[in-house]
Amino acid sequence: MMKRAILHFDADAFFASVEQAADRHLRGKPIVVGGLHRGIVASASYQARQLGIYTPMPIGRARRLYPKLIVVPPRFELYEQFSGNIFGMAEEMTPLIEKQSIDEGYLDLTGTKACLGRDPYAAAEKFGHDVHDWLKITISQGLARNKLLSQIASKLHKPDKLTAVPFHRDQELAFLHPLPVKWLPTIGPTTAQLMASAGLTAIRQVSQMPLNFLAELVGKNAKQLRDFSRNIDDRLVTTTQSDALSYGHQETFDKDTTDRAFIEAKLRCLADRSFVRLRKDAKQIRTITVKIRYTDMDEHQGQLSLREPTDVEEHVYPLLSRLLQRLWDRRVRLRMVHVKLSNVYSGFSQLDLFGVKQRQQTLSTLRDTIRQRFGERALMGPHDLLLSRSQKLSRSLTVAALMLL
Ligand SMILES: [Mg+2]
Repeated sequence: MMKRAILHFDADAFFASVEQAADRHLRGKPIVVGGLHRGIVASASYQARQLGIYTPMPIGRARRLYPKLIVVPPRFELYEQFSGNIFGMAEEMTPLIEKQSIDEGYLDLTGTKACLGRDPYAAAEKFGHDVHDWLKITISQGLARNKLLSQIASKLHKPDKLTAVPFHRDQELAFLHPLPVKWLPTIGPTTAQLMASAGLTAIRQVSQMPLNFLAELVGKNAKQLRDFSRNIDDRLVTTTQSDALSYGHQETFDKDTTDRAFIEAKLRCLADRSFVRLRKDAKQIRTITVKIRYTDMDEHQGQLSLREPTDVEEHVYPLLSRLLQRLWDRRVRLRMVHVKLSNVYSGFSQLDLFGVKQRQQTLSTLRDTIRQRFGERALMGPHDLLLSRSQKLSRSLTVAALMLL
């Protein structure tokens, strides 16, 4: 069997770099993107990082560090265009692309030699050059035999670096084992701290631990974690067409209906389900698409975008209503609705360390936990209750849900 070659790429300081690419006056200068209505740095140029300015830092503090700092409001449409261009270039190398967020993805480059006349390393090198030449931004890349190593390698030496892990088991372990545990996927700062307090700082140590010991620290992730620490990773690059990374759910009604309140409640439930998955993946989205199907199978769809990415379902409820209003223009019963979240971002949750959004977010996370533990129906919003009334849900469950709220 041919050896797999997996490339992971990640754009460097993406929003700030795009702004610098779009405006030559910003190039080479300490700039940050952010401060639209919450005063947090969303992205800092490398020149700003050299001054100690990071994401997510309050803009006020960044300005105290460097009073001449240039603050640019975010332009998400522009970032999404650049993203489209990067993934377009990636498609010239392989159709096997797994988009992870607006500026990150996996490419399966196995067999590029035969197709492109270039080995995977040379293909990756050209990709990096092309992105730089055409878009005036840089990406960092990791090339390895599996997703785990390629992702770590792409982030290890930023910016503008291509890091290849030799395709030999011993050299792979020599690369992986000395690294701090925080480099393993699924290990956040809290878990890293927990592991440190148990004396586990390097990935090598994790690889030597008995499973039940790890399970006490990290719960059900233990097996996955130890596999990663032993460089066991068979995850495939799952193709998502370049802009198809999305979270969606649809539902066909038991009976075709014109009950507007019922349909709106359904839309919200579908959105809720997608947001639970979205938060589990630590992602945020900016665009929401609604599709409706009439009883005669006629279909309509439309989409709207928020001003900035979010991982809070309440933020898209008004958009759902507007879309339904706009799309449902025939006085005909509906049989199916579909809600899709797209334009996926990552790293936006930390922006909201303060304020109302933060409170809502905490609530959402709490809800996810309760639902995970007690089941989908353990906790319901007003729209769930509306639906459950029509479904004759037992009264006690509803009362229990209200008490939890
Ligand atoms: Mg990035």
